[in-house]
Amino acid sequence: MQRTALTARRRARELDELAAEPVDLLVVGGGVTGVGVALDAAARGLSVALVEAHDLAWGTSRWSSKLAHGGLRYLATGDVGVARESARERHVLMTRTAPHLVRALPQVLPLTSGVGPRQGITAGIGFGLGDLLRRDAGTSSDVLPAPRLARPGEAARLVPAVAREHLHGAWVAHDGQLVDDARLVVALARTAAGRGAKILTRVRATDLRADGATLQDTLTGATLTARARVVVNATGVWAGTVDPSVRLRPSRGTHVVVPAARLGSPAGALMVPVPGSGSRFVFALPAQLGRVIIGLTDEEAPGPVPDVPEPTPSEIDFLLATVSRVLERPLLPDDVVGAFAGLRPLVDRAGPDDGAGPGSADLSRRHLVEVSPSTGAVNVLGGKLTTYRSMAEDAVDLAVKHAGLTAGPCWTTNLPLVGANPLVEPVETPSPVEPVETRAQALTPALVARYGAEAEQVLAAATLPGATSAVGQGIADTDHLDVTRAEVEWAVTHEGALDADDVLDRRTRIGLVPADRAAVRDVVEELVGAALARL
Ligand SMILES: Cc1cc2nc3c(=O)[nH]c(=O)nc-3n(C[C@H](O)[C@H](O)[C@H](O)COP(=O)(O)OP(=O)(O)OC[C@H]3O[C@@H](n4cnc5c(N)ncnc54)[C@H](O)[C@@H]3O)c2cc1C
Repeated sequence: MQRTALTARRRARELDELAAEPVDLLVVGGGVTGVGVALDAAARGLSVALVEAHDLAWGTSRWSSKLAHGGLRYLATGDVGVARESARERHVLMTRTAPHLVRALPQVLPLTSGVGPRQGITAGIGFGLGDLLRRDAGTSSDVLPAPRLARPGEAARLVPAVAREHLHGAWVAHDGQLVDDARLVVALARTAAGRGAKILTRVRATDLRADGATLQDTLTGATLTARARVVVNATGVWAGTVDPSVRLRPSRGTHVVVPAARLGSPAGALMVPVPGSGSRFVFALPAQLGRVIIGLTDEEAPGPVPDVPEPTPSEIDFLLATVSRVLERPLLPDDVVGAFAGLRPLVDRAGPDDGAGPGSADLSRRHLVEVSPSTGAVNVLGGKLTTYRSMAEDAVDLAVKHAGLTAGPCWTTNLPLVGANPLVEPVETPSPVEPVETRAQALTPALVARYGAEAEQVLAAATLPGATSAVGQGIADTDHLDVTRAEVEWAVTHEGALDADDVLDRRTRIGLVPADRAAVRDVVEELVGAALARL
């Protein structure tokens, strides 16, 4: 069994160990921030346990736009430090830690009647500044090409659904795009596990203290006490539920999903300025599984934090209307096959009662790392998916200092995640029956995009009947759902999936489209049951 493999059996064993033995650092929350902290601390030689109430990437980390941002947006709000940090972290992701999960995405801003001349000029200036950030971060134009003006024909090739009439040309600028946000979280968690971190899902923490927490195994209902020399609270938008001193101003961001074919299967993202704004855009982003996701909104979302936020009809209308301004054929509600929303964990630095604070779109995306005056744990909050690594570095630096731990320096900028490095650990039990050529044929670009250097292992490790007779066989009859049976098995044997929902909604993103989810639910349930029985 690989050291990086997460399974139900490993979870049960490590939960027992955690009840018996204290760890140096306990992380609460298994989103991108929490798993980033677990990896940073484990890589410095600390003993680490992470507890997550539901599943890896259960929270905001699976509802993002899946972009590794260069920070352009933050320049517009004057956050130069955040913008530079974002560009630096994008560079690290694209060149060292996760080049297999992040690709260069051409973004097309059409210069057409739906886009005002001032918006076109402002966007051009913004792209120029964004390019300075790219160069400042040391990212070569081979990795991310510089922005340029393109002719109408090229714009239409990249985004075929764009209206041709009055199309004078387009800005084409590149940014980083993740194949999927939840896959980044799982890759981080497995890389941390490979360095000895215990990654424990379905474990809720209550009663956070400076030296531990009360934990509940939500599968059995059993409670236990975890002891640690320091605790890091990475519960994102739920931080206030475990620490009364935390003040957040959650902001909801909604996306809709449409079939890629409806927009001519674009190779690039379409960028449409929000009417009346020089710095806000709606993006139509090509995504895996034959989809385009269109987002996003920024709406204050006060009140209790739901487990799964819901998009509102008016947000969906706004997205469809904005993007349709530049399309040959407007998008209609019937084109929408899915919709999802997430809550940004924005830190309210002004406090709750000053009323006249900024709107959420203007709140800084800077992260906050502090020792909580209420629990004594280290809180790490806010920030972005792109900057998870530097957030983790700051949090572990503070945790080490606060608890007086002995630990090495942070070195995660040079630590490739599983799948990034061709020198992955060999699988001990290769599939005995499948001829090699069949596996090679099954090694599709989609599989490589999701698993990088591990793609071949995903196929080689498949042992289930059906999975071995056609390792690369899809779980659905449709072309767009190109998830293989082997991937479902791998999710259980290596990625810590404990049930079909984990596979449908987080290891794969089939669940973003309810009809796709319903179409494959039975087969996924059957495969997951069989894989769990063999562990
Ligand atoms: C709509 C939207 C789009 C975005 N797009 C981008 C983008 O394109 N690029 C980018 O860089 N950033 C983007 N962001 C920002 C980014 O997604 C977030 O900053 C990031 O995912 C937050 O991660 P997190 O780990 O802090 O929180 P979360 O992912 O929410 O993780 C917190 C975890 O804590 C767990 N938890 C809560 N309470 C407990 C408890 N008591 N015990 C144990 N576990 C608990 C939850 O189940 C959850 O899994 C976007 C955000 C939104 C909302």
